[in-house]
Amino acid sequence: MANGRFAPSPSGPLHLGNLRTAMLAWLFARSSNGRFAMRMEDLTTGAAPVAEAEQLGDLAEIGLTWDGPITRQSEHAERYRSALMQLEDEGRTYPCFCSRREIREAAAAPHGEVGLGAYPGSCRTLGSVERERRAESRPPALRLDAGAAEVQVTDALKGPLTSTVDDFVLRRGDGVAAYNLAVVVDDAAEGVEQVVRGDDLWTSTPRQVLLGRLLGLPIPNFAHVPLVLGPGGERLAKRDGAVTLADRKALGETPAEVRAALARSLGLAKPGEEPAMAQLIARFDPARLPVETWAFHAGR
Ligand code: GLU
Repeated sequence: MANGRFAPSPSGPLHLGNLRTAMLAWLFARSSNGRFAMRMEDLTTGAAPVAEAEQLGDLAEIGLTWDGPITRQSEHAERYRSALMQLEDEGRTYPCFCSRREIREAAAAPHGEVGLGAYPGSCRTLGSVERERRAESRPPALRLDAGAAEVQVTDALKGPLTSTVDDFVLRRGDGVAAYNLAVVVDDAAEGVEQVVRGDDLWTSTPRQVLLGRLLGLPIPNFAHVPLVLGPGGERLAKRDGAVTLADRKALGETPAEVRAALARSLGLAKPGEEPAMAQLIARFDPARLPVETWAFHAGR
């Protein structure tokens, strides 16, 4: 059994790529008799009742079911604060005063310790006097002192990845928990054993695994699924036309037809068939999932 979850950000309607990832996360969980939780990652959007209701409505119409109440990251500040305190007590954090521009410039310069694009640790060694001086003009973000840890993670679909973890942000300058902290703390608090999500987050996974270990939390299994691409070969987006469930319905498709299209893209349905979710569970075999991207053409 492996409990799973879907954790959208309520920033607008889900497109078919998001719905397909949700369907996969659901199939992974339900095919192992696991629970399936729904969590709104609303730290950057703030409360978004309309987008949230729309997303949940679409997921339900496609045939997804979930257990327990919807959780929202905006309601978990206390949870994140106590995880941060634990890391601070262990001396694993430091304030960072860098602007986006400074980070961009520093990250573009060659440096040995961490990979390109990673934070090079400029603020790690600031003395307390300098920290106080800088805090007067800019509220700092809080970073993890990752100690250049090398972390290996294995993904059910992508295989192994080893990477050196950089000093990533745990709490933003505005005091809000950063994504990597929130996701690790929430997955553990919600008993998530299996994280199934888009593979744009695959390279963040070593950071999350390190954080989970430092906090003494159970580490979930991972399955990162390919994003859906639009006709131009870019990540599917609104500009690609009729890409949401509402768009497809406006073209005369039923939710069952949309579900069938998603299932076909996963090798779980034949053309012309409209399988129910229970049938998809019976057919689902993670070992036989197509691992290549699915290119979607919105036009009829
Ligand atoms: N909230 C993230 C997104 O919408 C997903 C995070 C996760 O699944 O870990 O892309």
